[in-house]
Amino acid sequence: MCGVFGIYGHSEAANLAYLGLHALQHRGQESAGIVTSDGSQLSLYRGMGHVIDVFPPEQIDKLKGNVAIGHVRYSTAGGSMLKNAQPIAVDYSRGSIAVAHNGNLTNAEALRERLEARGSIFQSTSDTEVIVHLVAISTQRASEDRVADALSQVQGAYSLVCLTPTSLIAVRDPLGIRPLCLGKLSETGTWVIASEPTSFDLIDAHYVRDIEPGEMVIIDKGGLRSSRPFVDVPRHTCIFEYVYFARPDSNLDGVSVYEARKNLGRALAKEHPIDADLVIPVPDSGVPATIGYAEASGIPFELGLVRSHYVGRTFIEPQASIRHFGVRLKLNPVSAALQDKRIVVVDDSIVRGTTSRKIVKMLRDAGAREVHMRISSPPTQWPCYYGIDTPTRGELIASSHSVEEINQYITSNTLAYLSLDRMKEAVVKAHIDSGSPSARRSLPIAAQPLTTKSFCTACWTGEYPIAFVPHPRQKQMRLLDC
Ligand code: AMP
Repeated sequence: MCGVFGIYGHSEAANLAYLGLHALQHRGQESAGIVTSDGSQLSLYRGMGHVIDVFPPEQIDKLKGNVAIGHVRYSTAGGSMLKNAQPIAVDYSRGSIAVAHNGNLTNAEALRERLEARGSIFQSTSDTEVIVHLVAISTQRASEDRVADALSQVQGAYSLVCLTPTSLIAVRDPLGIRPLCLGKLSETGTWVIASEPTSFDLIDAHYVRDIEPGEMVIIDKGGLRSSRPFVDVPRHTCIFEYVYFARPDSNLDGVSVYEARKNLGRALAKEHPIDADLVIPVPDSGVPATIGYAEASGIPFELGLVRSHYVGRTFIEPQASIRHFGVRLKLNPVSAALQDKRIVVVDDSIVRGTTSRKIVKMLRDAGAREVHMRISSPPTQWPCYYGIDTPTRGELIASSHSVEEINQYITSNTLAYLSLDRMKEAVVKAHIDSGSPSARRSLPIAAQPLTTKSFCTACWTGEYPIAFVPHPRQKQMRLLDC
């Protein structure tokens, strides 16, 4: 996962990009970068770590120009290192271009091999660099046509912002897997693009609409225009964005993430009821689903676990050693609330099972009498090839264990997952409900209505909208990353 941001036509472009990226920090915490354009030349600054640490004020001052793109990264393809940080910016025979990418390309290795065979030299191990090379060798004249030409050769997920000295180009892949939104600062007429509209709130921009699957938006001195350069295919928006990844205060494709999560919790309570004294969330991502569970079940909501906000998301760090340490660092039980209680714990997903196992132990050690785990999505059995970090099937506990075996492993009294159909219905319900007069004021309806068929659910079903054949070089690339 990653977050991307773009802004066109503001004297404080770099500063606003910095703020916009800060609001997307949850999408990637390994590195951050901004590229600006002053109309003739691009300026780049990137670093490892959180946005707030990467950009001291003096660096932002050096990023001159009225146009900027930015990126926060957590690696799913290519290792966690500065050379893989984004945006990627290059000079080539027809000028300069910078690219920031959220998603994963499924044919990147095959394309890379082909490009290297004809002489391309790659600077990084990131799949995004393939796009830059394809742009550079395109024979099209206009920048947007070169970008479209490059993207017509790639497969997979991409929500992209590209910067040339004179234009900002935003593109969402034809399946619409990752989100991408358009906003505007009314006073200055400045256009903004972001992975999630929470970026707009921070800079006082208003949400205009989502970029549609397969849409390219070009912003330059002539204004904003939109084109659809790719063949139309059925939408496959990642439903895990609603379950876990996006911020709960975001609205994506006409769905309030917060309302979707509450619906998931309500559905979970109806599908898997249990007698208990309290229902508690695994903070922070489990909170809205727990509110929904408490409301539908009548079981009182309590904060049984307190999260330290001074560590990043448990799973987001690439090395296993940091991840395991992170669970202990991040959560602490509230013993007073838990003493001798039968507790329902709501989380959004179980990946490896390590977090849930530690949480159950923590709650029992703190005095809980019974611990019932409830998960607001189905068992995660398949890796994501479109930008979520779940690399191998073997690491996913549900790929080789039944629900009862997982229950025994994590030592809960009972464990139950929301079914696939109820999950899809819960998200679609939040979409339909956003059509109510009160919601419509703040939440314009997406151009293509979402239905239960609009989603990529491959991590639960193994039904991938784009076939992925692992390339023989993939192993070699990972070794190089080390
Ligand atoms: P695990 O200990 O591997 O089972 O991780 C489960 C926890 O990781 C849950 O609390 C989820 O909220 C969180 N999680 C699930 N998927 C991801 C992801 N792709 N990136 C970061 N965290 C995740």
